[in-house]
Amino acid sequence: MKSRVAVIGAGDSALTCAVLLAQHGYQTAILADEIGDETNSAAAAAIWYPYDVGASDQIIAWALTSYDRFIELARDAQTGVSVTELRVFSRLGPITPPDWAQLFATRAVPDSEIPAAFVSGFTIRVPLIETGKYLDYLTTRFTNAGGSRNGGIRFTRLEEVNAGFDLIVDCAGIGARELVPDPEMEPHRGQVAIVEKFDLPYAVVCDDPPLMYVIPRSNDCVFGGTNEISDKRTADPQTTVLIITECERVLGRKAPALLRERVGLRPGRRTGVRIEAEKLRDGRTVIHNYGHGGSGFTLSWGCAEIALSYL
Ligand SMILES: Cc1cc2nc3c(=O)[nH]c(=O)nc-3n(C[C@H](O)[C@H](O)[C@H](O)COP(=O)(O)OP(=O)(O)OC[C@H]3O[C@@H](n4cnc5c(N)ncnc54)[C@H](O)[C@@H]3O)c2cc1C
Repeated sequence: MKSRVAVIGAGDSALTCAVLLAQHGYQTAILADEIGDETNSAAAAAIWYPYDVGASDQIIAWALTSYDRFIELARDAQTGVSVTELRVFSRLGPITPPDWAQLFATRAVPDSEIPAAFVSGFTIRVPLIETGKYLDYLTTRFTNAGGSRNGGIRFTRLEEVNAGFDLIVDCAGIGARELVPDPEMEPHRGQVAIVEKFDLPYAVVCDDPPLMYVIPRSNDCVFGGTNEISDKRTADPQTTVLIITECERVLGRKAPALLRERVGLRPGRRTGVRIEAEKLRDGRTVIHNYGHGGSGFTLSWGCAEIALSYL
């Protein structure tokens, strides 16, 4: 008989693993503290693009696997996934696409289209994953495959998971810092301002300080952002003003009305993403899948497939 599996977490990493487990016939339950809109995953916009997680060959391989899965998902509008043009700019000097981007048809942004705040840029077509809709889609796909999702459950140790589960998949994100415990974890706090939808046919990002991005979605637009080491989950109104001011400066227009401020903690891990199996003291196996930094969506399918290969 196939194992009964408990997946700890209900963010993007957990849901992606849980979908694959349930579809492979495992009796799978999601057990998590926060679910849905409460998760850090729901605070992301999100764009497929490796960021804040390193760029090793392994990271790029996981990202490219996920890219293929998102392109398949983008065929169905119900998934919340589409394909968009991303314009990556630099404030500092000439920008060249990263090595992995040679696989894509990138091109330089013509001088006439470079906002005054920047000196160079390139464009690339990438998946846009509208997180609210997409997390709902994954949840429905998981429950339709027989899985169950339970929120409001906080574990202090992995061994606390009910003995009826013979396998545990740990997708606790930044929560792994206390749960495992893993001292390599650090919270990379991100604050964004969600504004009303306006007419912009591409997303804009600049990673030179101050980090800024504008990501138009089907019903709104995400202005970003910040990335600092902090556990603070509440929005700082002054930071929102700074984010909006910088986006206005780059776009050369007044921002539409502010709809919502959001904060999420990117699960940074100093020694890189952790995907590995380990034996707990009670003899059960736990498969860890956490520490995806600013690229949880970008890596999700590649990492989930590797995590499941440990079964
Ligand atoms: C502002 C912002 C913008 C971003 N933009 C992008 C982007 O454009 N593209 C991209 O790829 N990524 C982006 N990211 C990063 C991405 O959101 C994260 O890497 C991803 O959400 C991590 O997902 P996760 O499922 O591992 O963790 P989380 O979403 O944090 O989920 C962790 C889950 O584990 C549960 N949990 C934790 N501890 C316990 C415990 N002890 N007991 C029970 N349950 C527990 C939590 O309640 C939660 O359900 C962004 C992040 C932020 C904050």
